[in-house]
Amino acid sequence: MSLQKITPDEGRRRRRFLVGAGITAGAGALARHLPLNIMQPAAAADPVPNAPVKTEIKHTVCSHCSVGCSVEAVVSNGVWVRQEPAFDSPLNMGAHCAKGASVREHGFGEHRLRYPMKLVNGKYTRISWDQAINEIGDRLLTLREKAGPDALMVIGSSKHNNEQAYLLRKWVSLWGSNNVDHQARICHSTTVAGVAQTYGYGAMTNSFNDLHYSKAVLFIGSNPAEAHPISMLHFLHAKELGAKMIVIDPRFTRTARFAHHYIRIRPGTDIALVWGILWHIFANGWEDKKFIEDRTYGMEEVRKEVAKWTPEKVSDVTGVPEAAVRTAAEMLALNRPSSVVWCMGITQHHVGTANVRALSILQLALGNIGVPGGGANIYRGHDNVQGATDVGPNADSLPGYYGLAEGAWKHFATVWGLDYEWLKGRFGSKELMEKPGITVSRWYDAVNEQAQYMDQPSNLRAVFYWGHAPNSQTRLPDMKAAMQKLDMLVVIDPYPSLTAAMHGRQDGVYLLPAASQFETQGSVTASNRSIQWRERVIQPLFECKTDHEIMYLFARKLGFANELCKHIKVVHNEPVVEDILREINRSCWTIGYTGCSPERLKLHMENKHTFNPTTLRAESGPCKGDYYGLPWPCWGTPEMKHPGTPILYDLSKTIAEGGLPFRANWGVEHDGQSLLAADGSTNQDSEIDTGYPEFDHVFLKKLGWWAELTPLEQAAAEGKNWKTDLSGGIIRVAIAHGCAPYGNARARCHVWNFPDPVPVHREPLLSPRRDLVAKYPTYDDKANFWRLPTLYKSVQAVDFSKDYPLIMTSGRLVEYEGGGEETRSNPWLAELQQNMFCEVNPQDAAQVGARLGEYIWIETPTGARLKMMAMVTPRVPPGMVWMPFHFGGWWMGEDLEQHYPEGGAPEVRGESVNTGWTYGYDAVTMMQETKVSLCRLARA
Ligand code: SF4
Repeated sequence: MSLQKITPDEGRRRRRFLVGAGITAGAGALARHLPLNIMQPAAAADPVPNAPVKTEIKHTVCSHCSVGCSVEAVVSNGVWVRQEPAFDSPLNMGAHCAKGASVREHGFGEHRLRYPMKLVNGKYTRISWDQAINEIGDRLLTLREKAGPDALMVIGSSKHNNEQAYLLRKWVSLWGSNNVDHQARICHSTTVAGVAQTYGYGAMTNSFNDLHYSKAVLFIGSNPAEAHPISMLHFLHAKELGAKMIVIDPRFTRTARFAHHYIRIRPGTDIALVWGILWHIFANGWEDKKFIEDRTYGMEEVRKEVAKWTPEKVSDVTGVPEAAVRTAAEMLALNRPSSVVWCMGITQHHVGTANVRALSILQLALGNIGVPGGGANIYRGHDNVQGATDVGPNADSLPGYYGLAEGAWKHFATVWGLDYEWLKGRFGSKELMEKPGITVSRWYDAVNEQAQYMDQPSNLRAVFYWGHAPNSQTRLPDMKAAMQKLDMLVVIDPYPSLTAAMHGRQDGVYLLPAASQFETQGSVTASNRSIQWRERVIQPLFECKTDHEIMYLFARKLGFANELCKHIKVVHNEPVVEDILREINRSCWTIGYTGCSPERLKLHMENKHTFNPTTLRAESGPCKGDYYGLPWPCWGTPEMKHPGTPILYDLSKTIAEGGLPFRANWGVEHDGQSLLAADGSTNQDSEIDTGYPEFDHVFLKKLGWWAELTPLEQAAAEGKNWKTDLSGGIIRVAIAHGCAPYGNARARCHVWNFPDPVPVHREPLLSPRRDLVAKYPTYDDKANFWRLPTLYKSVQAVDFSKDYPLIMTSGRLVEYEGGGEETRSNPWLAELQQNMFCEVNPQDAAQVGARLGEYIWIETPTGARLKMMAMVTPRVPPGMVWMPFHFGGWWMGEDLEQHYPEGGAPEVRGESVNTGWTYGYDAVTMMQETKVSLCRLARA
């Protein structure tokens, strides 16, 4: 939908493009060609074979969303001339959405950064890489001396491949700080926390393809038709086979139009609604009693909370009619296995982690976890937000979710071949070394906050924005103020990003051109945990350098290059990607990133056609028995040939074949109750027929299995557990006996270490329902949370609803992705959506005289005024407006084009909704609130 009129010729071009690229074409093809694996490519219209040039096909993966669609890049004499949507990929089977169909644009990149630049008297000026590395490096070394290593914040990327993400976490560790973070903080950190604390791992349990088995699917706070278009093909296949579809969303989305049952919910009331659904499930005895009895802990506490959510109360709080709630409960319960899919509509709230847990518990109550067609299916955002979360730049953990405790640092010091004391000496103190760092959602508060309230010795004084858009964070005027206070701001990105244009500085800004993922190689983890190997398609354009080369150059300047690459070969200043993955393989035992060697991943990519598009299992060929992309955990060493784990917590398979129980991560008992699974509730062929704790050297000896380790393994495993035994011997022996290395426990419905052990409804910080604020208040303010004071009640105490009567919320478009600088610079995509807009119900539009396609102002309680086009539509209910979050390049009505470096402004610019977004953070992870706030409209 574009609000701007187009010429007939432009229209024809657009239609041709859509037919070639859009989801509609893909969906139609899928429906016509069932079964799924017989789709064939059309004959190429412009054959290449006779051309007198060397033509190669490079196998790569779309770098936009996390579905992981494969792309075949046709390269002639080093030039990327064409792309095809890999017909033999079990993930996309020849379909691409518009974004995926246009990634070749990266191979031309007219709007890309071409060479390093620095801001001099308000103008970007070309400099050499040597000058850039030396100047920035000198400033960093001076800063370190004056203010300590925690004065730097490095905001990494979920578009780094796994190896770059890992290397960046290592880089910042060697610099001596935990002030490093990436997009997962602001899209799915609440998912990771909520799911991990319930089941054991913070990841999607099943796969997109596994939806083929679902009998009902609940999409809540997710809009895959736009956000993850090709995933919809898998769901539409399930629907063809009879699956029921429920969509819960405040807005009638493009996904909702497919639904059998659509529920319009008041934003910020998800827990009340989920408990309302569960109320009917319990009232009708639809829960899976055996599953609950054998495999869960604390469901009784949930029952007590759910009992409070009578149909009338649910209806009052959520705005959903009683009958609609009951219908949803019935559809889920009577059409099992049923699956739940959620996205940022659930996660981006001040109660995001609690939202996630409520849904996780719903699936436990229905016995939908660990079964094909069930699961908690959490569609991550960027192409590698899963992998970057798993092994990359997180403020609260070393790679593999090892945390920051002394034991974790010692594990990695050993893997890295470094002396722990030396490593500790790089930090301001041992305490700072073990304390979670500043998050990307609040970095600007760590600049602006008074120093005495900071929980680290210094405010932030330098920031690296490395492949990350600033307009994906909220409160941009506060961010701009922070940018102006910094000693130095460094942008490392293929595109300048809004950072380059919004800061309002005269100097102290550097822009360094990074290569895209098509100009390097490495592994990328799709949302379903499948890891795919991307080949290098083309050499870096212009003067761009790969992220890992830039990391190496800075490490050399800063004096820790030898430590960074002690076990990693460096060729022409580029750390060898395969060697980095091998280091990940040697270290990340916790999540089974150990069996996925470069060789195995490359073999999968070469043999995509041998994998079944429903089960993801190779039925023949060299990968026979493996699941596509070795979805983690892929246990043990590569030599063990574990096939990957397609469905988490599935007891019907042996561990060796990809089965798993719930993880024993919280001890063996709590409050006198066992946390281990009930007797008889174990994986197929397990030699232990009860619940059991995680494996370590003591447990192995008690079981009499120690002697099965080789002498070398015994030497490495002595005093270690399955996570820290670098030989992998403990894991190997546990699996040989049919046991999960991490134990066999119950999923936790009651998380005693969280602010709400059982999720409870809390009204949004800016709620129009002041009566409900009194009944369901938010949390108390916190003096020190992720190194910063954080407000809850004092924000909620102010009634903004009289002056700002409309609820505002935000979401995604199919045309753009993330902060959007990359996709809005792509002329093909830019043609599809040319204006930032705000969806307004006709009733509200009439109040201010707003008409379709005309400019309006959106005003928020921060004082921000955002100018955008009115999209007058009943898709949003009266009293609510919706805006996409991918835009940037305008600042409260002003086009910033002239502030970008020459030629660097994206084709489409517009107001960023986050300029006006208000205060609010999840009480566990510091996820920012972007799904419910207040605003008002005015005519422009
Ligand atoms: S954006 Fe997502 S759905 Fe679209 S082609 Fe890329 S990976 Fe596939």
